[in-house]
Amino acid sequence: MSARKAELAENLARVEERIESACVAAGRKREDVTLVVVTKTYPASDVRLLAELGVRHVAENRDQDAAPKAAACADAELKWHFVGQLQTNKARSVAGYADFVHSVDRPKLVTALSAAAVRNGRELGCLVQVAFDVESGDVGARGGAAPDAVSALADAVAAAEGLRLEGVMTVAPLTGPYAGSPGQAFARLREISTRLRAAHPAANMVSAGMSSDLEEAVQAGATHVRVGSAVLGDRPRLG
Ligand SMILES: *Cc1c(COP(=O)(O)O)cnc(C)c1O
Repeated sequence: MSARKAELAENLARVEERIESACVAAGRKREDVTLVVVTKTYPASDVRLLAELGVRHVAENRDQDAAPKAAACADAELKWHFVGQLQTNKARSVAGYADFVHSVDRPKLVTALSAAAVRNGRELGCLVQVAFDVESGDVGARGGAAPDAVSALADAVAAAEGLRLEGVMTVAPLTGPYAGSPGQAFARLREISTRLRAAHPAANMVSAGMSSDLEEAVQAGATHVRVGSAVLGDRPRLG
């Protein structure tokens, strides 16, 4: 085993232990939480090693990096999650490789993704990204729709050809009332998810939690945690 593969295996084992402990603490089953490894800024060779180590879900946040990586790893058994802010002119590219888009935050993007999915002959799983630090009608600095916009966006996704409404996602806010309290933000996301499922019962994905706050996310009911640096190492630059 290469040194890098051994390092990734060790990091993965540590993250796995954290998820398992968090599940035990929350009284949840381990299989109810999916680990999505965020590979942004790391090379396709790392993605391949992760696949060899049993990782099945990977995430990227920039199309220009993700598209070539997904192409280089097309033969690996991986689901690709797109988790970054998405310009409508990138929708077509993303629809070519992504299985899930976690960052749906405005009606224009729903329209663009739907057209792109149809054109690519693919179905895209979509999550509505919620921002807890924005006012009604705005999109947050790191993407995300205001909580009161979620329901209409979800309806739009559910009605769009080529898209499948899967659930909700958030990134713990750095500003606003929940700054420094990821658990509270995740609990609010869970409430939004519960309301969403009343209208769309199959939309049961709750994507929350990163390297620093995955325990809080599992406690609050996350079904998908998005973990980057704890598996791959600290990124040299903000990615
Ligand atoms: C980078 C990123 C993550 C992973 O963050 P880490 O702190 O490296 O675990 C999760 N979600 C999104 C949207 C990201 O951009």
